[in-house]
Amino acid sequence: MTDNNWIDRDNEIAKLEVKLYPRCVKFEKEPTLSATGYIVPCCWADSSTFEGLESLMKPHLHIDNVDSVEDIILSEEWDEFFDVLTNKPKEAPLICKKYCCTDKSFKNRGDYEIKR
Ligand code: SF4
Repeated sequence: MTDNNWIDRDNEIAKLEVKLYPRCVKFEKEPTLSATGYIVPCCWADSSTFEGLESLMKPHLHIDNVDSVEDIILSEEWDEFFDVLTNKPKEAPLICKKYCCTDKSFKNRGDYEIKR
C-alpha cells in the first residue's frame, strides 16, 4: 500500500458517520501524559500533531499551568470533547473513528489474524 492509499483511506474514514464506543469516557482507557506536557484522553490519541484534539491543547490545560490533573480532565474543554464523542460522533477526530468504532476489544481480535 502506498502512502497515498493510506491518506485516501484516512480521508474517507474522517468523513464517516459512525457510532463510537469511546473507551475514554468511562476511563476504560486512561488519560495519558504526552511528552509535550499535555494530557490526552488515551494513548492512541498521543501523536505528534494531536489532529482533532486541538481544543485540549490550550495553554491553560498544560500540566505546568494547573494545580492538579483534575483541573485538566474535569475542564470545560474535556467535557465538550466527551460530548462530541458521545453525541456528535461525526465530528470526532479521525483517531477516535479508527480506534473506537467498535465495542470489540482489540485483545479479542484474534479472529482477524491471518493464519499462516
Ligand atoms: S481513540 Fe478517541 S474515543 Fe477512543 S479512547 Fe482514545 S480519545 Fe477516546
